[in-house]
Amino acid sequence: TGGSSEIKSTSPKLQTGAISSTASPRKVATKSSANVRGASAVRNQANNAMTRRPVQESGSGYDAKLVEMINSVIVDHSPSVKWEDIAGLEMAKQALMEMVILPTKRRDLFTGLRKPAKGLLLFGPPGTGKTLLAKAVASESDATFFNVSASSLTSKWVGEGEKLVRTLFQVAISRQPSVIFIDEIDSIMSTRTENENEASRRLKSEFLVQFDGVTSSSGDLVTVIGATNKPQELDDAVLRRLVKRIYIPLPDRNARRLLLKHKLKGHAFALPDRDLERLVAETDGYSGSDLQALCEEAAMMPIRELGSNILTVQPNQVRGLRYGDFQKAMTVIRPSLQKSKWEELERWNREFGSN
Ligand code: ADP
Repeated sequence: TGGSSEIKSTSPKLQTGAISSTASPRKVATKSSANVRGASAVRNQANNAMTRRPVQESGSGYDAKLVEMINSVIVDHSPSVKWEDIAGLEMAKQALMEMVILPTKRRDLFTGLRKPAKGLLLFGPPGTGKTLLAKAVASESDATFFNVSASSLTSKWVGEGEKLVRTLFQVAISRQPSVIFIDEIDSIMSTRTENENEASRRLKSEFLVQFDGVTSSSGDLVTVIGATNKPQELDDAVLRRLVKRIYIPLPDRNARRLLLKHKLKGHAFALPDRDLERLVAETDGYSGSDLQALCEEAAMMPIRELGSNILTVQPNQVRGLRYGDFQKAMTVIRPSLQKSKWEELERWNREFGSN
C-alpha cells in the first residue's frame, strides 16, 4: 500500500459511487443488483456496529475519505496473475482451489459441512509466492482483491487503523466476492505483549470482530488470506480463525527448474540442459524472489563487459547468457533465508499446518 495523495478530495457522491465501482466485466453485468446487495450489507453491518457500540465517528458508520482510500490504494487493480504463472506449489494450489475458487463458482454445492473456510493463512519463507497465490486466487474467482500490508496499517494509519479495518470489511462486503489479503499479518496480530500500546490492541480486536462478522454471515463471500513468515508469533485468537494453514515452502528442484526457465524465457541464453541442471542443483535454498534476483544479476554480466561500447551496440549483438554468468551472480546473490529459520517453519508446519 502506499501513496496518500488520493485521499485528499472527497465528494458527496463518493460513498455510493466508490463502493459500487466494479472490478470485473462480470460485475458490470450485475452492477445494480450488486449495489442493492452491497448497500443492504453495509447497512446491516453499520446497524451491527451501532449495537456493538454507541454511535460515534460518523452517523452512518462510514467514512467517505477512507472508502476512497481503500478503493484507490488498497484495491489492487494490477494485471491478473494466472495459475500457470506460479511455478510449482501444486498442493497449495489444489487446497486454494477447493477452499476458495470452487465455492465461489458453485455456491450451491458448498453449504453446510462443505461451507468454505473464510480465513486462511499462507506461511513460509519470504519470496516464495504467497502474494502471487493470493492474487491468482482473486483473479481466478473474479473477486475484488484488497491488498493490505499490515505494517502500513500500523505505521501510516496510526490511530486510524481500527477505523480503516472496519471500513475495509464494509467495502469488501459491498464488492464481494472479495479476497482481503493481509501481508505480514504477524505484525498486527502477534501475541499480546506487556508493552503493547492501546491503538494496536484496539486494531487487533476490531479485526477479530470484523472477521467474525463475515464468518457468521453465510451469505457473504469474503475470504481473508493472511501471509506471514513468522507464524509462530501469531496470536492464538487469530490462528484459531485462520483455520486452514497452508505451508508455502522454498521451491524444490522441479519448481526451481520451472522458475529458472520461466525467468529466462525471451532472453538470449545458451544454457545446455547439463548446465541448467547444475544451476538447479546449486540453487538449493534459494526462494523464488532470490532466483529472480539471481537471473537479473546474471543478465547484467554481458552488459558490463561492453564497457564504453554500451552506447553504440545493437541489442542483437549483446552475447547470450552463459553458465559462468550465473556462477558469478551466485557469489553476490545468496539465499536470503537462514537454514535455522527454514527449519523452524518446517517444524511449525508439522505441528499446526493443514498440509
Ligand atoms: P511472498 O511469498 O513474499 O509473498 P511473492 O509472491 O511476493 O512472495 O513473490 C516475490 C516474487 O518472487 C514474485 O514477484 C515472483 O517474481 C517471484 N516468485 C516467487 N515464487 C514464485 C513462484 N512459485 N512462481 C513464480 N514466481 C515466483
